[in-house]
Amino acid sequence: MIKDTIAAISTGMTNSGIGKVRMSGPQALEIADKVYRSPKGKTHLLHADSHTIHYGYIYDGEQLIDEVLVLIMRAPRSYTTEDMVEIDCHGGVVVMKKILETAIKYGARPAEPGEFTKRAFLNGRIDLTQAEAVIDVINAKNEYALSSSVKQLRGNVLEKIRQIRKNIIGNVAFIEAAMDDPEHINADDFGEELKVSVEENIKAIQKLLDSADNGRMIREGIKTVIVGKPNAGKSSLLNSLVGDERAIVTDIAGTTRDTLEESINIHGIPLNIVDTAGIRETQDVVEKIGVTKAKTFAQDADLIIYVVDGSTPLDENDREIMDMIRDKKAVILLNKIDLDLQTTKEMLENMTQHPVLEISAANQQGLEDFEALIRDMFFGGKLSFNDEIYITNIRHKEALSQALESLNLVLDSICAGMPEDFFSIDLMNAYDVLGGMIGESAGEDLIDTIFSDFCMGK
Ligand code: GDP
Repeated sequence: MIKDTIAAISTGMTNSGIGKVRMSGPQALEIADKVYRSPKGKTHLLHADSHTIHYGYIYDGEQLIDEVLVLIMRAPRSYTTEDMVEIDCHGGVVVMKKILETAIKYGARPAEPGEFTKRAFLNGRIDLTQAEAVIDVINAKNEYALSSSVKQLRGNVLEKIRQIRKNIIGNVAFIEAAMDDPEHINADDFGEELKVSVEENIKAIQKLLDSADNGRMIREGIKTVIVGKPNAGKSSLLNSLVGDERAIVTDIAGTTRDTLEESINIHGIPLNIVDTAGIRETQDVVEKIGVTKAKTFAQDADLIIYVVDGSTPLDENDREIMDMIRDKKAVILLNKIDLDLQTTKEMLENMTQHPVLEISAANQQGLEDFEALIRDMFFGGKLSFNDEIYITNIRHKEALSQALESLNLVLDSICAGMPEDFFSIDLMNAYDVLGGMIGESAGEDLIDTIFSDFCMGK
């Protein structure tokens, strides 16, 4: 049982139009009642109905602090399922702080980051995947990330995992029953039956895992590297793509020394382009070609854009780059088509399976086709944003991988003709890790870690 009442400023700590101070816990209404006065002094919040809004003033003793609206939400119909009070005040940092201090003075305790959502979880209103989705909704960098997080918030990942767990526990129960009561339940053919069920669960988990890479790309952006020989037009391409969007471009300090990432949006798809400008500037002769360094970047890129200078003939370096990108997701751009071409689209197509497009980076020609291609590559046909479930969280991905491993062990045991009780151990392992994923057996440390990622007041 949670006995204390927490309070926090839930809006940003900058001056803005309105601000919100929230309280949750058994004393929320009592504290609100002590600090609030209605215009005629007649309304008492202690007895106010749930889901009502009250106009008035916040006082600390006789000192008037602000003119406010107070929202009352009684347990269990609130975000945390506890009694909650939201004070809508003016959005000045000083006034919000003063209201928070007054709430604390009259009995509330300052909330930890994420503590409101933690209470919603501990009180059973939401599961862990939904709680994590709250963070993702707040941090969503683009529409796709937002839509995926909101779906997770509504519980679609939870439902899927619950279903798989239900199947697994069904299998375990059947094995136990067959062992307890061999006369009535025939366990002889059970191996085959179990195999079918385990394979179904494996397929479902695999599908979720497959979505994880797309999920990560949606959340963090598609890691993109532009490669090509010096003067092919890499910087020109980047500048053209960034173009009018300059205003929304952000520089993210890269994880690799001396690299920067430019974030651009193509049809709402976030591309984080590693700016390889540094490659060109190095003094090292080999590095000047850029192939060595580009290789390192390319290894863990989601997408490679290979820019070829059409006004020069192909050489060894181009062949080396083609080799390097063979097994990657890549697009080849034949640049400078406004000049006399020494290299043609056909030549390139003969060297690679990847799509080849003609562009002129300097003249902004062919870029629309390129953008359409990117969109189709990632979202066309293969993926649908309407009903797919995306795994966007690394913790979920790890849990799913572990569950998959355990279920594969069950399959191995069945094929090897092991006794039934062998199956149960691995089935229960899978059941437990999936439970951890949705918080149905999550350890306290894990829960604390998850919630400490939250912002204040959420
Ligand atoms: P990088 O070394 O690959 O980054 O190449 P840059 O973007 O710096 O371009 C090298 C040179 O090629 C510059 O002088 C550009 O103006 C020129 N250039 C780039 N794209 C085109 C193009 O489409 N047409 C023509 N004619 N010149 C281009």
